[in-house]
Amino acid sequence: AIDPRWRDVDLWFADRLLPPDPAGAAALAANQAAGLPAHDVSPLQARMLALIARMLGARRVLEIGTLGGYSTMHLARALPDGGQIVTLEADPHHAGVAAANLDRAGLAARVDLRVGRAVDSLPELARAVAAGVAAPFDLVFIDADKPSNPVYLDWALTLVRPGAVIIADNVVRDGRVTDPDGDASVQGVRAFTDKVAADPRLTATVLQTVGVKGYDGFMMILVDAAPAAP
Ligand code: SAM
Repeated sequence: AIDPRWRDVDLWFADRLLPPDPAGAAALAANQAAGLPAHDVSPLQARMLALIARMLGARRVLEIGTLGGYSTMHLARALPDGGQIVTLEADPHHAGVAAANLDRAGLAARVDLRVGRAVDSLPELARAVAAGVAAPFDLVFIDADKPSNPVYLDWALTLVRPGAVIIADNVVRDGRVTDPDGDASVQGVRAFTDKVAADPRLTATVLQTVGVKGYDGFMMILVDAAPAAP
């Protein structure tokens, strides 16, 4: 359940800190009209992703899980001229709505939307990066099927430059993450967390979040070239 204070505070800050976003609002309306689940990040969370992209000076972003392109849109806007976001979406209906939203927002040229299961799209991206045909990614946003998070981490690590950041959404799951008998998504997040913890190249934290999307959280991971200092 969403505590009304979480919603009020979210809206209070969004009112003050975020500019009007007609393209974002149109995308959310189009998503709803097309029957997409309201699983997009919130406006303040979208701003957080965009800020991290800008703080990193990201030119190449990978997103796993497009839905209607709401987070994609905010990340794309945060890129400099010539920057690109590759976004992977399994559901052709979601991808079609996202493509229309991104087109309407004037962002299509910065977005490479690939339709298909992420595990089927990632090997080709990895080949392109390994061959030097494409630059490695500066930022990866993991926001698709949570049982696959451990696999997405492995792929992300082959695709990023040292100093890159990986962000995973929905790692708290209304507190269920601590349940060893949780569902497949909980198991995915738990295995992902253990994998991150065991990798000496990675330094990570979790930011628990409450707001219009309920109680959840983001994991943020810095990828070092060499084992991280304790
Ligand atoms: N990032 C989006 C945003 O904030 O606007 C929300 C993404 S939503 C939480 C998850 C999306 O991942 C859904 O559109 C779903 O169809 C997609 N998805 C689920 N399994 C997938 C897979 N195996 N490969 C690629 N996309 C997948």
